[in-house]
Amino acid sequence: MLRPGDDEYERLRPDYMVAGEPALIVRPSSPEGVAETVRYAAEHGLPISVRSGGHGAAAFANPGGVVIDLARLRDVAVGEAGLVRIGGGATWGEIAAALGRHGLALSSGDTRSVGVGGLTLGGGIGWMVRQYGLALDSLVGAQVVLADGRIVRATASDHADLFWALRGGGGNFGVVTEFTFQAHPVGEVVFGALTFGVDDLPGLLRGWRDVMRGAPEELNTTVLAMPPFGDQPPGVQILVCWTGDPEQADEVVAPLRALPGLRDEQLARTAYADVLEEPEKPEGVTIVDYNSFAADFDDRTIDALAAAREQVDASVLMIRYLRGALNRVPASETAFAHRDSEVLLILAAFLPVDAAPEDVATVRRRWSALDEYTRGMYSNFSMLAGEETTARIYPPDTLARLREVKRDYDPGNLFARNHNVRPAEGVLAGVGA
Ligand SMILES: Cc1cc2nc3c(=O)[nH]c(=O)nc-3n(C[C@H](O)[C@H](O)[C@H](O)COP(=O)(O)OP(=O)(O)OC[C@H]3O[C@@H](n4cnc5c(N)ncnc54)[C@H](O)[C@@H]3O)c2cc1C
Repeated sequence: MLRPGDDEYERLRPDYMVAGEPALIVRPSSPEGVAETVRYAAEHGLPISVRSGGHGAAAFANPGGVVIDLARLRDVAVGEAGLVRIGGGATWGEIAAALGRHGLALSSGDTRSVGVGGLTLGGGIGWMVRQYGLALDSLVGAQVVLADGRIVRATASDHADLFWALRGGGGNFGVVTEFTFQAHPVGEVVFGALTFGVDDLPGLLRGWRDVMRGAPEELNTTVLAMPPFGDQPPGVQILVCWTGDPEQADEVVAPLRALPGLRDEQLARTAYADVLEEPEKPEGVTIVDYNSFAADFDDRTIDALAAAREQVDASVLMIRYLRGALNRVPASETAFAHRDSEVLLILAAFLPVDAAPEDVATVRRRWSALDEYTRGMYSNFSMLAGEETTARIYPPDTLARLREVKRDYDPGNLFARNHNVRPAEGVLAGVGA
């Protein structure tokens, strides 16, 4: 256990300050150590926050509480038939590298230092989402330390309600010390970007959508529309990841290349692990974000999106195309319920670090015009937290079910530093006691 004043605490401190200065940082090296810490925190009434890769978008304040940092639990063990056990503190860069040595991969996210914990428990939208679904769709089991300190294994047959809740319900139900995934055989991929001029953004988006509607699921793309930065002109990129036969990449990408305004093209064969990047975190700005799913990326939605973006200077637009495996999982099968989505829309505005609250509110109000065309919110990209946000993340049926599981596994809401699901009122089901 590290306390303020300890050398190691002071060394790690800057990393945790975002969540308020914690009383203790604990870096257990076993599930039993995690369980002991959970029991200690519960007995002393200390709020707990859990850290895997430390990239959680919403800064869940935990002043005076205990941070359970899983950095020492990061083994990646490849077993029979592509089953992989991954420690709760591993990051996707090291996971991709380890799996790549076995010709395997998991669809995760786009960034190396993001952790297996936060990304998987919220969803996980990555470069193979159309083919293999969310990261959590490849999850087959989890070892979890519960609020009472017990260590259980959740699968489709053991603690099935907990297993359902973990797949989308975030850190509400316990500390996941180990994830078991079914990995997929993945060889070389073709990855890169097509860069376009931006005379007609709605026109380009319509063309991109039409191509993607007819494209094989091994083709994953994301649109990124950037404002001018320094001496860089504004531009639109279509980021491409093709996981099918590399020899067919040219043919599959040709319809995207034929969209109007192509200025540059950089595509290359590469190992999947090398596709993951480490973007620099923008400093000295207030980021105001919007994210939501659209079940049908129709012309009206595209026009509304382009208009909303134009109303806010220097905003970045990202659109992830999702249609594929994600849609084939019934909405009730996991706590991530936005299963009919065609796209995920993300807008981010960069305001000065001392932006007035009215300016932030103005951006949010302008973007809320999009709510008419979209549904829900992706928890992992939400920088807001609170009851209203939780109610956007989960449709009412899903939230009601999550609250029941929460009541059964964490009735005292010990795990509350997250997109919090309050326990349902009423009788406990008596879980696996
Ligand atoms: C640069 C960047 C790129 C990103 N790219 C993508 C992307 O391509 N696709 C995508 O889907 N998302 C992406 N994300 C979002 C990312 O999925 C979330 O920020 C996620 O919460 C980060 O997980 P983490 O483990 O790194 O964060 P942490 O801050 O460690 O965890 C976030 C929260 O998850 C919970 N938690 C984490 N681990 C555990 C555990 N083992 N047991 C119980 N609870 C736990 C805790 O409540 C914690 O507060 C990106 C984020 C960033 C910053």
